[in-house]
Amino acid sequence: MMNTFISGERQYGFVSKFNYVREAGTSGEQRAAETILQELKKENSDAQIRTEEFSFFAPQIKRSFFEVTAPYHKVYEACTFGFCANTDENGLEADFVYLENADDINMKQANGKIVMLNNYMSRTMLEKLVKAGALGFVSFSGTPIDTGKKRLPTSKNLGQSKTLAEIPGTCIHFVDAAEIVEKGALRVRMICEQTLVEKTSQNICARIEGSDKSDDILTVTAHYDSVPQGPGAYDNMAGCAIVMELFLYFCEHKPRRTIDFVFFGAEEKGLLGSRAYVKAHDSELSHHLFNMNIDLAGQSLGGTVIGVTGDSSICRQFEALAEKCGIGMTTRSSVWSSDSNTFAWKRVPSMTLNRDGYGMHTEYDTIDLISAWSLRRSALLLCTIANYLANEEVFPLCRQIPQEFLAQLDASFSTEK
Ligand SMILES: [Zn+2]
Repeated sequence: MMNTFISGERQYGFVSKFNYVREAGTSGEQRAAETILQELKKENSDAQIRTEEFSFFAPQIKRSFFEVTAPYHKVYEACTFGFCANTDENGLEADFVYLENADDINMKQANGKIVMLNNYMSRTMLEKLVKAGALGFVSFSGTPIDTGKKRLPTSKNLGQSKTLAEIPGTCIHFVDAAEIVEKGALRVRMICEQTLVEKTSQNICARIEGSDKSDDILTVTAHYDSVPQGPGAYDNMAGCAIVMELFLYFCEHKPRRTIDFVFFGAEEKGLLGSRAYVKAHDSELSHHLFNMNIDLAGQSLGGTVIGVTGDSSICRQFEALAEKCGIGMTTRSSVWSSDSNTFAWKRVPSMTLNRDGYGMHTEYDTIDLISAWSLRRSALLLCTIANYLANEEVFPLCRQIPQEFLAQLDASFSTEK
């Protein structure tokens, strides 16, 4: 019956309603939230449908400027790094050093300088730079083959915060970064100015009460916001279509355990929707048994991975279910990088279904690459898992999360300010 219910065409139709950019805190995201809400209400079920609002801070960049002042003079395109300190209006001028991968030997030269490094700029990396005495940093984006508007640096942010970090930072393009190393830049000047603005986002939720084990709660989740670069069909409206399809299925086939279907806002800003959710539902989290999340789905060519942040025995159980329905996939027991992490951090074991695909976080991530065939397969696989977890007499999964995962999660979530 699941086989005849789950429809790839219906999911494709759902994704096609959202072929626009939905950056968190903008009217695009708001419009998508309203459409999801309407779609949930169409079903006329007795599910408890609600909007859960939350606020966050976003950088508004006022000025970005970067130049080399010695031994030659040249101004480069720059993009002030979000959540970093402001310089004064004349800017910060200092000696420059390229630290490559910020290894310990290179880091010894950071003191009193503006440093450039290859590394992903996290709050942990920033703290390391401050400790080493760096006055500011330069990050770079892009590739050596970029042309046209791709030849510009992209805006980047540190993780969510209410305040600006200790030192300023800016981003330049890869080709320019290579040039300043090659030409032996010794002194640089940067001007950075930004303010933080409070914005609103929302999670859209629909809860189907379990028939006889309603105190046990499961979640089926996906984020509906996108990055500003493109309309995020693969990342992650396709995931939302799967959540919607499972919602429709369980409206018709009442589960024994309670299932909360959640469409998260602001994932791309640092898992903000799921963080708001675990905060708002803190008092019931001990009843949450498992989170099933989808992030990246729906393209025809690719393979499917289920990343389990929980005991490795869960992987074996999911593989057995997949084998039964004849849908190929692999599993991995690890810390993932999507909203499922937030549940695991709160000691609720979790998984993310993830399919390979092309064009994540670019303008190429559109409905053109989405396939009804692929959506149907992933929805069938996830529905098989959800059906099993929702209806077994005794909850079948280990609820202990390996200690090493918890340590990793605690460390990464603790850098939030
Ligand atoms: Zn995503």
